[in-house]
Order: sequence, then structure tokens, then C-alpha cells
Amino acid sequence: MTVGVLALQGSFNEHIAALKRLGVIGVEVRKAEQLQDVSALIIPGGESTTMAKLAGYHNLFPSLREFVKMGKPVWGTCAGLIFLADKAIGQKSGGQELIGGLNCTVHRNFFGSQLQSFELDVSVPEIAATEGGPPNFRGVFIRAPGILEVGPEVQVLADVAVHSDRTANFDSVESSEEIPGSEKKVIVAVKQGNLLATAFHPELTADTRWHSYFLKMVKETSEDTSSSTASSAGIIRLPQPPKYDLPIYQQ
Ligand code: GLN
Repeated sequence: MTVGVLALQGSFNEHIAALKRLGVIGVEVRKAEQLQDVSALIIPGGESTTMAKLAGYHNLFPSLREFVKMGKPVWGTCAGLIFLADKAIGQKSGGQELIGGLNCTVHRNFFGSQLQSFELDVSVPEIAATEGGPPNFRGVFIRAPGILEVGPEVQVLADVAVHSDRTANFDSVESSEEIPGSEKKVIVAVKQGNLLATAFHPELTADTRWHSYFLKMVKETSEDTSSSTASSAGIIRLPQPPKYDLPIYQQ
């Protein structure tokens, strides 16, 4: 299994290191033709406007859209989530080009500026059920986006409570579930078929469960499309027992 990591800008090295901890080689992708050699793609966090400019400059958008349409697994973290969304708000004037495919509306800087970045234990029932480990995941939110609404085919994997007094973009949340005390829930992780998206940065923690979850998606897809590679694809070797706690980011 070869997983590509879009390496235009942002935390691509950290994703490659996380894959390595699971015994999987991550390949840096910078050119359209390199997408032909990978079975899946991770789009890292970083700065979505810059990433979009670089992707446009290298004429990557048509191939990236084709990759998504072909049903290949793609995981976007943070800026990568913005890239995958069908609709983004809170963009610079004139907007920015998106890959699209993920039926959701995302607010680009929902949680505020860089200075308002934070860490939070996020409840991750689906991840804990499939990957084991504790029920929470340490979410690293860096000038993080939030998912305001999702289409019916989108599975919500995690959300967090936001408070009207503390969240400037509170009113933009289209929450179906109102919780008492001026709180709403904003979605921070979703899955839609071959697409996975997280508003936070799992690659900056020692906990590799989101990566192993994505690798299972990759394995399932390669089993669907090629029975000949199914026997060898997706063997996840854990060199060390998994770590779920901090410290943040270990090489
Ligand atoms: N909100 C940022 C953007 O618009 C993304 C931040 C991140 O990827 N950590 O690009």
C-alpha cells in the first residue's frame, strides 16, 4: 500500500512520520502524475489559501478532483478538510479554489485566529470502537475550521460543544441538536464514502488511531478493486505498542 501525502505546504512530514510508525510508506506528492502511483492521499494541515495557490500553479486541481471521483481514499486534515469541502465560508475575498466532493459547508477559521488555537479531548466513539484505545482523542486545533452543516450521506465522527459567549462564529453553526445553556455542537470530523476529514491535527500527536482508521479505509478500497493485491495490502505492523497520550508529535 502506498499512501501519498500532498507535499505542497504544511504538515506533510508529520503525516509521513505517523504512517511510518504504522509500518506504511508515505510518498510526497507534488505533481499530478505522481497521483497515479498512490492508492490513497492525505492532504495535510497548513494554510489553505497558500496550498490552493500552489495547487493551482502546478495545475493539480483537475487530477485531484479525478482522484476523489475515482473513489480513492482521501483524508484531509484541517486545511485539507477545507480543500475537500464542497463549500467554504470565511475565505479571503474572491474565495479560493477547492477540490470539493465532501458534501458539507466548512467555516475556514471557525475557532478564531492562530492565537486562539487550543487542544481539547474530543470524544471519538467510532475511532475507539474500531481502533481500540481510550474514548477520547487529543485534538490539536490550530486556527481550525469547523463544519457547519453536512449532507445526509455524511457520517459525523466527532463534534465539540461551542458556547455563544466564547465563539465568535457561533451563529453560523447549523446545529440540529441544540444543547441548553447557549451551546451548540460544531462538527470536527466526518466520513463520506472514500473521504475522511478532521478539523484537528492527528499527525501532531503520538496517537496514530486516525491514521490506522484511514489505512483500513485504504485496505477496504484496494480489496474492492483488486483481489490480487488484497492479501498483501494494508498489513499494519506496530513496531511499538500504541501510544495514546501526549507528548505531542514524536518523530
Ligand atoms: N484555517 C486554516 C486555513 O484556512 C487552516 C489551519 C490549519 O490547517 N491548521 O488554511
